[in-house]
Amino acid sequence: MNSFFFERASDVDGALRGIGEPGAQFIGGGTNLLDLMKGGVARPTRLVDITHLSLSRIERLPNGNLRIGALARNSDTANDPLVRRDYPLLSQALLAGASAQLRNMATAGGNLLQRTRCYYFYDLAYGQCNKRTPGSGCAAREGYNRIHAILGASDQCVAVHPSDMCVALAALDAIVQVQGPHGSRSIAFAKFHRLPGSTPEKDTNLGPGELIVAIDLPPSPFAQHSHYLKVRDRASFAFALVSVAAALEIEDGLVKSARIALGGVAHKPWRAAAAEAKLLGRPLDDTSVDAAAIGAVEGARPLQYNGFKLALTQKAVRRALVQAAAGIA
Ligand code: SF4
Repeated sequence: MNSFFFERASDVDGALRGIGEPGAQFIGGGTNLLDLMKGGVARPTRLVDITHLSLSRIERLPNGNLRIGALARNSDTANDPLVRRDYPLLSQALLAGASAQLRNMATAGGNLLQRTRCYYFYDLAYGQCNKRTPGSGCAAREGYNRIHAILGASDQCVAVHPSDMCVALAALDAIVQVQGPHGSRSIAFAKFHRLPGSTPEKDTNLGPGELIVAIDLPPSPFAQHSHYLKVRDRASFAFALVSVAAALEIEDGLVKSARIALGGVAHKPWRAAAAEAKLLGRPLDDTSVDAAAIGAVEGARPLQYNGFKLALTQKAVRRALVQAAAGIA
């Protein structure tokens, strides 16, 4: 690990001042950043500790949104009574992630900023990684790419986003609140993370020096019919091969609105809009579920070792939809 300056901010303005110099990074729970630093993948020259900022409340706003402070711990968010009652999809996704110890440390804001778990990104023995060293190539594209993307990838990077929480947030149309040197702004969740394109080193559309201060959830009609399904190589403490956040609003036996988001298949949480459209105004039966499953992988381009994700995604979408419709948490 390289040497670095460390400072603890006591308020947001102080944190924003501290991040002003090149090479500075915020640190919250540190559950990903410390691994990256120990491995030499991240080499910040200054760490600005934000854990003492007052950003951990979970509260209902006057406009009906639920605000989750950026420093709310994953375990607290997952077990919050309002989250469990109104957004059980988010609670399920959080509890599917990592281990209890990590959930006690990890924060909501940090979850959005997790970096990919592509093994070539973490292993400095591989010189080819455009995300780590822009312009160096991509070892995964011709390498062992079993865990990599089938949707939205580019020639420069085929990595996937690792978060479970973010898949649920994508389905719930969350809004990310940020503060930075030029003031405050809101970012729709669909526009927060980026596809790799020709700049895979950039995971998000956060500007320089911007800090996530909260995540807002609009009122949801999906509390009765939602399900988070995670498929992984082992039963706990593993990242998703494929995950599905499915949410349905059902009225008079017909699907009034639907949300389907996928994890483990793309560089960002992937909203399967084509799959959602197959369900609208129809009963949730074998025909509509099959159509949605096929729609979920529309445009997929598997790599040499991850073709299995096509069938796995379709089966996971089917199962998540059936369980959501049945109200099985
Ligand atoms: Fe690096 Fe992305 Fe290629 Fe992985 S997939 S080696 S993160 S460029």
